[in-house]
Amino acid sequence: MTAQSIVSVQNLNHFFGENTLRKQVLFDVNLEIRPKEFVILTGPSGSGKSTLLSLIGCLRSVQTGSLKVLGQELNGANNSQLIQVRRHFGFITQSSNLLHFLTAQQNVQMSLELHPELSGQDRRTKAKAILEAVGLGDRIAYYPDSLSGGQRQRVAIASALVTNPKLMLADEPTAALDRKSGRNVVALMHRLAKEQGSAVLMVTHDNRILDLADRIINVEDGKLGLAVSQELSIALPGFNAALLEKSDTKPTVLTYEAGEIIVRQGETATKFYVILEGEVEILQETPDQPAKLLRRMGRGEYFGEIGLLQGGERTATVRVAKDSEVKVMVIEETLFRLLIADSDLTNTDVARRLHQRIMTSHLAIALPNLSTARITEILAAVEVVRYGPNSNIVQQGESADRFYLISKGQVAVINHQDDGQEATLRTMQAGEYFGETELMNRQDYGFTIRVLPEASVEVMVLDRTTFCSLIVESNASQDKVATVLRNRLIGNTEYPSESISLNQNALKSRSSP
Ligand code: ADP
Ligand code: MG
Repeated sequence: MTAQSIVSVQNLNHFFGENTLRKQVLFDVNLEIRPKEFVILTGPSGSGKSTLLSLIGCLRSVQTGSLKVLGQELNGANNSQLIQVRRHFGFITQSSNLLHFLTAQQNVQMSLELHPELSGQDRRTKAKAILEAVGLGDRIAYYPDSLSGGQRQRVAIASALVTNPKLMLADEPTAALDRKSGRNVVALMHRLAKEQGSAVLMVTHDNRILDLADRIINVEDGKLGLAVSQELSIALPGFNAALLEKSDTKPTVLTYEAGEIIVRQGETATKFYVILEGEVEILQETPDQPAKLLRRMGRGEYFGEIGLLQGGERTATVRVAKDSEVKVMVIEETLFRLLIADSDLTNTDVARRLHQRIMTSHLAIALPNLSTARITEILAAVEVVRYGPNSNIVQQGESADRFYLISKGQVAVINHQDDGQEATLRTMQAGEYFGETELMNRQDYGFTIRVLPEASVEVMVLDRTTFCSLIVESNASQDKVATVLRNRLIGNTEYPSESISLNQNALKSRSSP
């Protein structure tokens, strides 16, 4: 791991002052930054962020511990070694210095002086292109004195970016920029990291760019730690940091290895999880079938809310992906409940996702073998309709044109008899569906489906075309639907069961191209 790290810090301590004035500002710092990583350092002022950055940037001598940058140990390194390493850096500070007698373009070109392999024309072209990228295409011939503070900062950023540095160190680079240009330049650095395999280490208090980070590290009193509230604010819109003070339990961090199971379907839910690093797979387990992969989730996403909010049982298994280690923030149920009670925004976001996920599960069970991509596609197109207590969703005798999957609540299946009486045949609940028989046989609805008096019902509605194309796509769905149908018909001999398979074939030939 260490060999390929861009920055590798081990047991680093740092002191300022001498004798009685000697003061420790960094305590046993350990940190690895790998290629393509975009790492943000946050923390209160005076906590040691700039000191750490300047040590990594070879602007200060390492006192104790090990600090390797691009494979070079900086502790005890001589001047020419330091110069050699520094060539691969881009360094941006809060108020970067430009040369006042040079234009913006000439300032940027200066950074390329150390690259003799480039011709003068190449340098001019590169400088112009990067200035355009930071939004200064129309200012390339301006001198620093005729640029605003924000514009000067963008020239400095362009100067740092133009050499495609292997390591970009940035100390509050967006402090002087407005929201839009701040985000733009950070996005540029982000692209640099991802496209060129470089790394970015940025000190910032700017909440608007936290979501771009691969990792956020909190520095407090010279020690590195988890950025709890920043991580929560990325995962949960509306999160308010003050809330953590009110809670007896604090979030903790757990690491899981590739393939490990984090929560298991059927177990009792007690915790909520926010993914900090790596990827997990959400698996639906059904008896007699291989587990179905519903989706993958990564950094900034959360899981565990369904079990906590609906019935207390895990509705799916969450497993670490094969190729990844996973770090999660673990939140106890009491704190989770505080979080959603505290903010309407958080509550709405969690409710919306929960609903989406429950629908995914129902669809995956009702129509097995649909691909995850197809499920996502259907969910985007599906109409979700809510019916109040005692209302009829479909009426016996009406012409059938839709397929219904119950996503919440219970309905009764009612038969209107010839003598005018109603007979309730059975009830159906979330995950069950109706309307398929009629769609497949091109018949009117054979029953009335009515919401039970206790609570309203939500159904996902598919039109005939979508339903038919789904059935035709997947043999397993077809078989499953046919089985459900046959089981229903055992209690109801109105339709001879042969007609089902016959009509399924008819359906197939009609819908295939
Ligand atoms: P941050 O960037 O997180 O605001 P700094 O790294 O600038 O914090 O400072 C960390 C601590 O070190 C502060 O207490 C600061 O006063 C002290 N400090 C920083 N630079 C020097 C210096 N050159 N001499 C003495 N103390 C310093
Ligand atoms: Mg600072």
